[in-house]
Amino acid sequence: MKNIARESEDYFYSAFRHDQWQLMKGTDSSALDHNVQLGEKKFGTVGAVACDIHGNLAAATSTGGMTNKKYGRVGDSPIIGAGTYANNNTCAISCTGHGEPFIRAVTAYDVSCLMEYKGLSLYDAMHIVVHDKLLKIEGEGGMIGVDAKGNAALLFNSEGMYRGYCNSNKERIISIYK
Ligand code: ASP
Repeated sequence: MKNIARESEDYFYSAFRHDQWQLMKGTDSSALDHNVQLGEKKFGTVGAVACDIHGNLAAATSTGGMTNKKYGRVGDSPIIGAGTYANNNTCAISCTGHGEPFIRAVTAYDVSCLMEYKGLSLYDAMHIVVHDKLLKIEGEGGMIGVDAKGNAALLFNSEGMYRGYCNSNKERIISIYK
């Protein structure tokens, strides 16, 4: 950590985020960055999954967090198995949404387990988790995934999810709503 530059607190200030919080503070509710309507700019969650030429899988999630969340709250994004997971034998998964149910359901790992123990495809495993298991516990959100053969899936049970995909055949998808 010695050679990493440190920034002052001002560096992390965002007027956009501050305005979101002004709308929510004093209420008991919290909102995902993509649910709060404030202008066109989106600075929220960024998740990525990748499969290299050798079938190595990787996942990363940088949370946009939730507005008006409890001070000190840790969401699902940095918890391996909950919001982020990669295993060369099954899949790489990155999640977005209300983190608490994703943590309770160990969501990203659950997709991997369904593939490993039940022999499901990536899409079928993700479909069960996103459209059945998460919905039953009010887990709103979605996930992106890729398996070791390069099959990808981008599923969500929320109104929309900013998402993109590309492969070595130059197929490209960019989408927001269903
Ligand atoms: N899953 C994140 C959390 O609960 C929110 C997000 O999607 O960025 O903290």
